[in-house]
Amino acid sequence: MISMHGRRLRQWLTTGRTIALVVALIGVGLLVAGTTGTLASRDTARAVSVEQAAVEQTGTAAPRERQSAGASPVTPTPIPVPLATSEPEPRIALAPVPDRDRPSRRLAELALVASAAPPARAARIEPRDQTVSDQGNEDAAWRRFAAAAPMIEGPMIAIVIDDSGHDIARTQRIAGFNSGVLTMAFLPYVNNLAEQTAIAREGGHEILLHLPMEPLNPELDTGPNVLTIDMTPDILDERLAWNLARLEGYVGINNHMGSRFTADRPAMAHFMRTLQARGLLFLDSRTTIATVGQQTAAEANVPYLRRDVFLDNEPNKDHVLGQLLLTEAVARRQGYAIAIGHPHAWTVDALETWGPEARRRGFTLVPLTAVLQYRQQEVAQRPSQN
Ligand SMILES: [Zn+2]
Repeated sequence: MISMHGRRLRQWLTTGRTIALVVALIGVGLLVAGTTGTLASRDTARAVSVEQAAVEQTGTAAPRERQSAGASPVTPTPIPVPLATSEPEPRIALAPVPDRDRPSRRLAELALVASAAPPARAARIEPRDQTVSDQGNEDAAWRRFAAAAPMIEGPMIAIVIDDSGHDIARTQRIAGFNSGVLTMAFLPYVNNLAEQTAIAREGGHEILLHLPMEPLNPELDTGPNVLTIDMTPDILDERLAWNLARLEGYVGINNHMGSRFTADRPAMAHFMRTLQARGLLFLDSRTTIATVGQQTAAEANVPYLRRDVFLDNEPNKDHVLGQLLLTEAVARRQGYAIAIGHPHAWTVDALETWGPEARRRGFTLVPLTAVLQYRQQEVAQRPSQN
């Protein structure tokens, strides 16, 4: 007993000394930082502690390209935290008190956590990086109707449920999903839309308008009031107005079908101007590799996101579970992933099985707008290419 107490006392004294050393170092750091007093220096320090947490969890260091590339040629800012030899406390460093009234703070955390978590960053700089801006339009619909994002504690996954609204019972079941926030994309021509979108929003989920667009295969049934490439601008506007007025409280649009329409530059350019005027984002379902969504969105200054994974192209739960693991891999690599599924029974079954497991593995299910805000921050923080 005595020797055990003695050992504990020695351990305590060692810990005490370490804490004293850390406090002293932080004090020195704060003194020096106080002379420069930049927010960036504190963020950098926190980013490094986040990175350490990532090293602990994964055994590999997250690359520091943002910090080194972003560093100015003048005197580097002292970073107190990495000098600490005690156990880092990433949870405390990472998790401010949840405070929905301060989204900017939450998003700053979000960006840091997500950038630290994925081990590989090789494929980050792509042309689409230029397409997330909407020139700081603070009052855009996509901001006003964004669902509350949870605290982000790892790579983000946004699950979008296309073709929603055919069956109100299915809508209720999906809205009851409780492992995180989903984004439900409602078809404009179904019944009881107001009731169904209210159910989705009460469940904390985000809403998209799932807009029918012309497919390459004319045999496919798109539903009424589909947008086609042979329409005059006036007719296109009329159709668009009808579709856009069918529901409320949505953050943007993604295409239902549309392998012909989304590849047509004049039609998409016209469509994007309407989105820009209404402050809506565009999620490209990418039903064709020939889509010009990215370019036309950039030209019209429309915030643009793209689907990474389709979850349920095969009608069974095992396939969906496999696609969800693929989604996790994408999220680990780029910090976020966007997957699209449908309100099939097997898809919902798979999501309900997978949701709690994904949370345990450190992923956070977020609304689509959380990915967009993260992307905007990421682009804003990137050093200029010129
Ligand atoms: Zn669809």
